[in-house]
Amino acid sequence: MSNTSKKIAVFPGSFDPITLGHVDIINRALPLFDTIIIAIGSNATKNHMWSLRDRKIAIETLFKNNDAIKVAAYEGLTATFCKSQGAQFIVRGLRNSTDFEYEQTIAQANDKVNGIDSVFIISNPEYGFISSSIVRDIARNGGDYSKLVP
Ligand code: ADP
Repeated sequence: MSNTSKKIAVFPGSFDPITLGHVDIINRALPLFDTIIIAIGSNATKNHMWSLRDRKIAIETLFKNNDAIKVAAYEGLTATFCKSQGAQFIVRGLRNSTDFEYEQTIAQANDKVNGIDSVFIISNPEYGFISSSIVRDIARNGGDYSKLVP
């Protein structure tokens, strides 16, 4: 394990766009780590609504006064990105059992293959229904999604 003195976590996601659910997880993860890297993954198979640049600027603007938060974009495996950053942890939010089922095997593989531990934070019931895809649906149809995003 590198950087044993500093606890560095990566919070990976598409953030297309960042929602109040993401912000809640980030705020609750902050006391646990010295640094959290919000990492925007580019997934070639996903169609994005907001450009990588716009998503990155939105997140940077939101957390510009917090030195413990960094924002980065990456391609490929999250675990490889973690190693490049000296991060020992991955933070993920869990909204429901579907999230859990999906995350469990990935977390087990990341631990076994890369020695990276995943830390899960259960969503706040107030935000558990929020997803970026719901925001995109509302946006695509001209609705008001302002109560779901920061
Ligand atoms: P991904 O495409 O990797 O799921 P997302 O941007 O959708 O990326 O989500 C990033 C992380 O944030 C995931 O761990 C996801 O479970 C979590 N998350 C998303 N929305 C919420 C929410 N409303 N409450 C708690 N966690 C959430």
